[in-house]
Amino acid sequence: MRVVVFSTKGYDRRTLEDRNGAFGHELVFQEPRLTLATVPLATGFPVVCGFVNDVFDEAVMEHLAAGGTRLIALRAAGFNNVDLRAAARFGIAVVRVPAYSPHAVAEFTVGLILSLVRGIHRAHARTRANNFTLDGLLGFDLHGRTVGVVGTGRIGALVARALALGFGCHVLAHDVRPDPDLLAAGIRYADLPNLIAASDVITLHCPLTPATRHLVRRETIATMRPGALLVNTSRGALIDAEDVVEALKDGRLGGLAIDVYEQEADLFFEDLSNEIVRDDTLQRLLMFPNVLVTSHQAFFTQEALVAIADTTLGSIASFARGEPLAHAVTEAVIAKAPAA
Ligand code: NAD
Repeated sequence: MRVVVFSTKGYDRRTLEDRNGAFGHELVFQEPRLTLATVPLATGFPVVCGFVNDVFDEAVMEHLAAGGTRLIALRAAGFNNVDLRAAARFGIAVVRVPAYSPHAVAEFTVGLILSLVRGIHRAHARTRANNFTLDGLLGFDLHGRTVGVVGTGRIGALVARALALGFGCHVLAHDVRPDPDLLAAGIRYADLPNLIAASDVITLHCPLTPATRHLVRRETIATMRPGALLVNTSRGALIDAEDVVEALKDGRLGGLAIDVYEQEADLFFEDLSNEIVRDDTLQRLLMFPNVLVTSHQAFFTQEALVAIADTTLGSIASFARGEPLAHAVTEAVIAKAPAA
């Protein structure tokens, strides 16, 4: 199949070209993000391959359909950037990579929690400046603390197990579908208000849907333990970042670690070190000593890149052969499994 690949970085290109040896698709790589402005680059391609910040809204979809696109292949698990209703109307199928390496994201999340709790990111910056003091780096033991895990799917379940079994945390979980294996492992479930009120650390692993958008906002933060820590490696819009800034300013929130940010689309994955970044909320967040921001990096392991490439190229091959698409995303699929 002829495939145009948007948002291509060197590592995407190297992995996709390497793994494509087994599939033989014709891959054309484009560095820009897919938007209404760049959609002409997709004209004539039956398959468009995109990533988390490519825009697949109704207007873009109309252009894609007119240009002959019949399949959108997402190199990601989340699909909140795709208007599925529009895709169905224009007869464009959508596939994703439901599980590439949940370990990659879960392990990174635990790393963020540890860094936030012990100030490892600050210590690193300090010692590089020959400041070997400990003032301001006082942490707490994770052992015995309550950690709230919101969303216990593939990633959240691994985080819950690592924290409960590895660190001896009291893990409190919340999910619209509790995981029987986690229950059997002794993990307790709670409703969201109780989880929020009882946790020293809250980590988010549910998908972004209308129901979870701004799940953490002023009202939620008001019910948290004073000084609680918040971690988000799922999707930026789960958090109202402006409310979080206010809570950090008055000390109500004790710290924040985010790998995702609601307005990340024009920022993350780019080197803007020579430019003026006009996002005041992100700039404010970056000024807090107790805030750690990474740029959508949690997925980024060798194993994950290979799995993403293999699943994506395999789905495209199935599509070419007219086979059922195992990783299709449709409104019907979501209705059956809201998290999928
Ligand atoms: P998953 O589908 O396996 O699990 C999601 C869980 O959330 C499910 O158990 C589901 O029942 C639950 N859920 C759905 N709606 C909920 C709600 N309203 N409240 C509580 N729980 C709810 O997904 P996953 O593979 O574990 O991934 C989780 C999220 O992580 C994805 O949605 C994606 O956005 C994000 N992600 C981020 C990165 C990264 O690099 N930062 C990489 C991969 C995935």
